[in-house]
Amino acid sequence: MSPSITSKLPSISPTIFTVMSSLAVEHKAINLGQGFPDYPMNEELISLVNQHMKAGHNQYVHMNGLPALRNVIVEKIFSLYQQPINPDSEITVTPGGTYAIYTALTAVLQPGDEVIIFEPAYDSYIPNVEINGAVPVLIPLIYPDYKIDWDMVRKKISPKTKMIMLNSPHNPTGSVLEKEDIKQLQNIVAGTGIFILSDEVYEHLIFDNMQHESMLRYPDLLERSFICFSFGKVYHCTGWKLGYCVAPAALTSEFRKVHQFNCFTCNSPMQFALADFLPNKESYLMLGNFLQKKRDYFLELMKQTKFIPLPSHGSYFQLYSYEGMSDESEKDLAIRLTKDFGVATIPTSAFYKNGKEDKVLRFCFVKKESTLEEAVNRLLKYNPS
Ligand code: PMP
Ligand code: GLN
Repeated sequence: MSPSITSKLPSISPTIFTVMSSLAVEHKAINLGQGFPDYPMNEELISLVNQHMKAGHNQYVHMNGLPALRNVIVEKIFSLYQQPINPDSEITVTPGGTYAIYTALTAVLQPGDEVIIFEPAYDSYIPNVEINGAVPVLIPLIYPDYKIDWDMVRKKISPKTKMIMLNSPHNPTGSVLEKEDIKQLQNIVAGTGIFILSDEVYEHLIFDNMQHESMLRYPDLLERSFICFSFGKVYHCTGWKLGYCVAPAALTSEFRKVHQFNCFTCNSPMQFALADFLPNKESYLMLGNFLQKKRDYFLELMKQTKFIPLPSHGSYFQLYSYEGMSDESEKDLAIRLTKDFGVATIPTSAFYKNGKEDKVLRFCFVKKESTLEEAVNRLLKYNPS
């Protein structure tokens, strides 16, 4: 008898990002699906990695992350949010934000625990909860601006609620948490044992003069939070897969127990390079303006089509409704646009456990202007009957 696996994730297949990116390659489509820039990253940062490799910084660094990098992260957090963070006990460098989220959930969750997740949700959240034997409690964000229904959150809280997962700026919708949301959250968690997982990988990718409402601004929320970040998003290098998790010492200590036997430590030359580069504040403070211009350029081009934009105040993404244009499912239309018109997008139904259909596609606009122009020229040929 040959061995067979009883799947821990029986209903999961390859992610929509993999599916649509493969289809884009196969059909030579412009990929506005998976979120990654197609323009070059900073040359100086590349040179720094190279210099550090040549200087022999190629061996394991400290399990919690290169101390020099943790020190500059702490300085950055203090200058942005006036929050003192201990670099030894409250930060762990991780191979990306996704890993940080998984590690935090695995550190906290016991079988049967409930985790509140807002849908549409980044695709890793629900499987990450389920693989730990915990139960996702799903709450829909309110269409079309995808705000949180806090009354619904109050109703869904139970004695089993272990965690609330937040993501601002939000993938896939581009919605952002505002002060009023923070007040509601503070009221709901005060005096409870509920943890917060705050996915802040798009921290700097926020537009329209809005302020990023990090958990780092609020000591009463920070004391119960794992906050996850990604350098891939900050420095236009999603393939670097490097990030970090900030959490109070007692939470970080449990996080590191999981981390140390999974990846143990992250690649060293990039940590050395980032330790040199991060003190350059302009390198991240300029991001909001830089990407807002791209969003606006894309919005302007798309006015030539019949797609209807939904509000996006941050992230890499702009949602468009195709209400009135087609009766196809989101996935069918996304596949047809890729195969027949040469533009790949992501169906937002992929961000719902039950595949809810809103007739909305997600477009990634962090591309060169020429890429966006060509993509919209192709979309103009899509002429629904
Ligand atoms: N959270 C969200 C909402 C994201 O969009 C991404 C991007 N993949 C991540 C986390 C993780 O980023 P990383 O590539 O650093 O794992
Ligand atoms: N975060 C990116 C997106 O939402 C891709 C991440 C991935 O491919 N897993 O498109």
